[in-house]
Amino acid sequence: MEIHRNGSRPDMTGHDQWFTGKIAMAPVIGAEAPGRPGIVTLNFLPGARTNWHTHPLGQTLIITAGRGRVQRAGGPVVEVLPGDVVWFSPGERHWHGAAPDAAMTHIAVQAALDGVTVDWNDPVADADYLTPPGTIELK
Ligand code: MN
Repeated sequence: MEIHRNGSRPDMTGHDQWFTGKIAMAPVIGAEAPGRPGIVTLNFLPGARTNWHTHPLGQTLIITAGRGRVQRAGGPVVEVLPGDVVWFSPGERHWHGAAPDAAMTHIAVQAALDGVTVDWNDPVADADYLTPPGTIELK
């Protein structure tokens, strides 16, 4: 058993090559092999977002605070709010971040494939990020 006391591990903030704007990433847990789950909490300040990226085994986001935006390649920008849960399929190109005028916090859950949880790509252009949110895709 391990107990990580609140505040015992510093947030990570130096991810300028993978994010636009200011974010803080707090580790929750990284499973030891052969376990796979990796869980982090991410706080995006207004305007901040990830680069375009994919996850080899997919990703679940649980929005816990604020107001944010997500988009999969080829789909609309979608606004997300606390309590919303987002699933990205393995290999599905996407980004996630805060709204332009509001911060957003989410828990991110992703499993590792051969130690890799994410494959990063190019930044999200302002013209794409600032597209007004569209209709949520219902399945
Ligand atoms: Mn992602």
